[in-house]
Amino acid sequence: MSFLSIDQDLARHSYYAATASRDAAYSPLEGALECDVAVVGGGLAGLSAAIDLARKGHSVVLLEAREVGWGASGRNGGQAIHGLACDQSEIESQLGLDDARKVWQMTLEALALLRERMAEHHIDCDWRDGYLGLATTARKGADLARWADRMAEVYGAEFTRIGPQEVSSWIASPRYHSGLHDPHSGHLHPLKYALGLARAAAQAGVRIFEHSAVTSLQTGPMARVCTAQGEVRAKQVLLAGNVYLQGLSSHLEARIMPVGTYIVCSEPLSEALASSLIPSRSAVCDTNFVLDYFRTTNDNRMLYGGRVSYSTVTPPNLSENMRQRMAQTFPQLQGVKAEFAWGGFVDITMNRAPDFGRLADNVYYLQGFSGHGLALTGLAGRLVAEAMHGDASRFDIFARLKHHPFPGGRWLRTPALVLGMAWYRLRDILG
Ligand SMILES: Cc1cc2nc3c(=O)[nH]c(=O)nc-3n(C[C@H](O)[C@H](O)[C@H](O)COP(=O)(O)OP(=O)(O)OC[C@H]3O[C@@H](n4cnc5c(N)ncnc54)[C@H](O)[C@@H]3O)c2cc1C
Repeated sequence: MSFLSIDQDLARHSYYAATASRDAAYSPLEGALECDVAVVGGGLAGLSAAIDLARKGHSVVLLEAREVGWGASGRNGGQAIHGLACDQSEIESQLGLDDARKVWQMTLEALALLRERMAEHHIDCDWRDGYLGLATTARKGADLARWADRMAEVYGAEFTRIGPQEVSSWIASPRYHSGLHDPHSGHLHPLKYALGLARAAAQAGVRIFEHSAVTSLQTGPMARVCTAQGEVRAKQVLLAGNVYLQGLSSHLEARIMPVGTYIVCSEPLSEALASSLIPSRSAVCDTNFVLDYFRTTNDNRMLYGGRVSYSTVTPPNLSENMRQRMAQTFPQLQGVKAEFAWGGFVDITMNRAPDFGRLADNVYYLQGFSGHGLALTGLAGRLVAEAMHGDASRFDIFARLKHHPFPGGRWLRTPALVLGMAWYRLRDILG
C-alpha cells in the first residue's frame, strides 16, 4: 500500500471531520491564471501566508490537492505549545544565543497570533488555555526541572513547577512523577480552526482552489505551477505541502521523513469525570522521545495521541491498541469505548528544527515542523509573507538553520530510521 493511500485511509475516521462542518467548498482550478503569489498547500502554513499576503495587497492563488485542512492541520492533537520540536540548544549551537532568543520569542508570538486570529476572524474552535509537560520518572523529572531553570534564566520563560507531591492535583494518573504548567499554550479543534482560516483567506481575496494538485513547478522570473486542468503563473511561489509534495522537489523531500502518529477519541464522558482526569483541562504531553499527548475535548471526550510509525505502516488494531494505551494512563477509563481512531504524518527533519528557505529567489518553502507545527505554522506563514513583501529579516533567521538529507537516500532511509528510533524508544522504556 502506498504512503498516500495509507494516509487517505487514516484521515477518514477522525473526530474532527465528524464534528466540523465544511460549509464552503472551493472549486478546482480550470484554465490559466496569473497572480503575484501562488501558494501550494491549504494547511495552516499555506493559509496563514495567504491571509497576510492578501492583506498586504498581493493577488494570491492557493492550490490544495484535496480539501483545505485535509492534511496534518485538520487532524492533529490540537495542542498549541511554546517552542520548537527540537530543544533550544540546537538553535543556540547553530545560530548563537541572540538569534536563539529571537526564535524563542517568535514561538511565543505564534501563540499570540493564534489567539489574535481566532478573535479577529470569529473562529469558534473550542480553544482552552493551558499546557502540562509531565515526566514519567524521577530522572526525567530532574531533567525537566533543569531544563525549566535554564529556560527561565536564559529566555525568561515562566512556567509553574509541579513537584512530585503536587502532581496528583494536576492529573489523575499513576504514570507521572512531576512536571510544569504553561498558561500561555493551549488547545483547540484544529479542523475548525483551519476551516476558519480558509474563510478568512477567501474574505481577504485569496482565490482558493481545492482538488487542484500541483504536478509541476517551473522556476523563472514568472514561475509556473501546473495542475491537471490548469496553470498559474506567479511572481512568487510558496511550497507549503508538508510530506505530500510528491515529486515537486526531490531536494525538499530528502530533508524530511514522513512519520505516522495516531490518535484515539473516546465516547463522551460525564463532565465530572473529564474534569477529574485533568482538572485544569490543559493539554498534556509527556517528555518521552516517543511521546503520549492528550487532552479532553469541549464535549468531554478523552482525545489521546501517541505511538509512531517510522515505517509509515499503520499499527495493527489501531483503535484497540490506542484505547489500551489511554487506559494505562487513566485506569478510570478502562471500560470506556473508543469512538474514533485516526492518524496522519508529520514531516520530521534530522535535527527536528523547522526547515524554511528558498528553492530560487522567488520560490519559498516551509516544512519540517516535526510534529510541533500547530502554532508555529501560523507564524511561519507570516514570516514568508514579510519576506515576499520585502523584509526577509525574520524569515532568514530560520532560513540560516542547516539541514541534512536523511542518510540512505529515498529507499534506505526508512529502515535506517526504524533502527535508530528503536534505540530511543528503548531509552523511554528504561526510564
Ligand atoms: C496525528 C498528528 C498529530 C499532531 N499533533 C500536533 C499537536 O498536537 N501539536 C502540534 O503543534 N503539532 C501537531 N502535529 C503537527 C501539525 O499538525 C503540523 O506541523 C502542521 O499541521 C503542518 O501544517 P502544514 O500546513 O505544513 O501541513 P498540512 O496541514 O499537512 O498541509 C499541507 C497541504 O498541502 C497539500 N499539498 C501537498 N502537496 C500539494 C501539491 N503538490 N499540490 C497541492 N496541494 C498540495 C496537502 O494536500 C495538504 O493539505 C500533529 C500532526 C499529526 C499528523
